[in-house]
Amino acid sequence: MNPLGLLTAALGERVDTSLPALEQARADRSGHAASRRPLAVVHAESVADVQAVMRIATETRTPVVVRGAGTGLAGAANAGSGEIALSTARMTAVREIRADDLLAVVEPGILNADLNAALAPHGLWWPPDPASREISTVGGNIATGAGGLLCAKYGVVRDAVLGVDVVLADGRLMRFGHRSVKGVTGLDLTSLMIGSEGTLGVIVGATLKLRRLTEGTICTITATFPSVRAAAAASAAVTAAGVQPAIMELMDAASLAAVSALLDLPVPPAGTAQLTIQTDGPAAEAEAQAVEAVLSAHGGTVQVSHDRAEGERLLTIRRSMHAAMAALGTTLIEDVSVPRSAMPAMFDEIARIEREHGLSIPTVAHAGDGNLHPNFVFEGSEVPDGVWRAADDLFRAAIALGGTLTGEHGIGTLKSRWLAEELGEDQWELQRQIARVFDPLGILNPGKVFSAHA
Ligand SMILES: Cc1cc2nc3c(=O)[nH]c(=O)nc-3n(C[C@H](O)[C@H](O)[C@H](O)COP(=O)(O)OP(=O)(O)OC[C@H]3O[C@@H](n4cnc5c(N)ncnc54)[C@H](O)[C@@H]3O)c2cc1C
Repeated sequence: MNPLGLLTAALGERVDTSLPALEQARADRSGHAASRRPLAVVHAESVADVQAVMRIATETRTPVVVRGAGTGLAGAANAGSGEIALSTARMTAVREIRADDLLAVVEPGILNADLNAALAPHGLWWPPDPASREISTVGGNIATGAGGLLCAKYGVVRDAVLGVDVVLADGRLMRFGHRSVKGVTGLDLTSLMIGSEGTLGVIVGATLKLRRLTEGTICTITATFPSVRAAAAASAAVTAAGVQPAIMELMDAASLAAVSALLDLPVPPAGTAQLTIQTDGPAAEAEAQAVEAVLSAHGGTVQVSHDRAEGERLLTIRRSMHAAMAALGTTLIEDVSVPRSAMPAMFDEIARIEREHGLSIPTVAHAGDGNLHPNFVFEGSEVPDGVWRAADDLFRAAIALGGTLTGEHGIGTLKSRWLAEELGEDQWELQRQIARVFDPLGILNPGKVFSAHA
């Protein structure tokens, strides 16, 4: 049976075999692409469309790669030869907003920023705020377990989803989770779907846990330090002091220099690292004072602003990191996470890896939650072996410090070869068996996450 013929008969023009669509579906934003084009891109517009695709895929044993906006950084949404790229980007409806229950029911294709624009008039927001919030979908955010700048205080996707509707590989529709605040009935399959990277099912709906918009002022504190270690130690001290900033971002000297060049800002003295911190809510000013004291005690040169526009301008420097790296070459953006107290030690490890591998590794960090993004910049489209060796060293260092391979971007194709090393053989096998229960034929995102293990 020809899957393309069956798809076209069932879904008509929603099956797209145009060259631009196929080319686009080969790649996400990781800098990596499948070596060949997929069979077709299906633009699902309803749950029934998704079910039809999955039934045909099961019948014909055709692999399916689910895609949101394709902004992922792990290669997980890249669709290749013989595969169906199933896009949920057109499923953008907000089905329900309940201010009394602090929840919203949405389709997966709505962009994170569009959802928040719809929630704002109700005095509500959905806290996960990846830097890609203007361009990434809620379904993609859930499937990657996305995080962002505000997550140290307001939580990541995992803290903000009550339930998901999922179409399984064979086309059955399941509803996992609940609408109540509490709910411990049976196993937590909602949790299992978060960060599952398209390997367990297609998310076709989500019941999201909302917050009321935060009242009060926002204070922005910037502090420069003579070394990245000093900045990391200061951020760990802020956490240890019991203050909870909404945002705490760290930029090392190379990142700061690259962004300064991009934005035409004065060049900071060599070696200068920076922390940008925001406090919010009714206690913002008192917390800003407490943060200022800790940073000064740790040798920081500190400035505090109470002006929101100025705060946004200061954060733009941090948000320009992706663009600054892209201006230098092709980037492998890494994503290790360590316990917050281990941040200074992790920066020591990065300095060692730079020395031993003869590389510069500009690094930014969500310092409030110990999540670091070391960037490897290189020429051309293939990651050079030397960069992979340095990345390998980086992953092992993070794991040795009690950390993990990925804090928010996922495993995808880029990190699958290290998965068993962190999980151990038994857990790797257990996880793969769980995936097989959801997808016995192995047609959901094959070759991703669990693949490259011998
Ligand atoms: C400039 C930039 C900044 C970024 N900043 C951040 C950041 O701060 N924090 C962060 O966490 N990430 C960040 N990212 C990475 C990326 O935006 C996130 O991983 C995002 O959650 C991906 O959403 P998407 O809609 O683009 O998903 P895609 O890239 O299309 O897909 C990602 C994964 O989700 C799966 N998937 C997508 N939709 C569904 C669905 N409906 N059902 C089942 N599986 C699905 C795919 O199969 C794939 O495995 C950034 C990316 C860029 C380009």
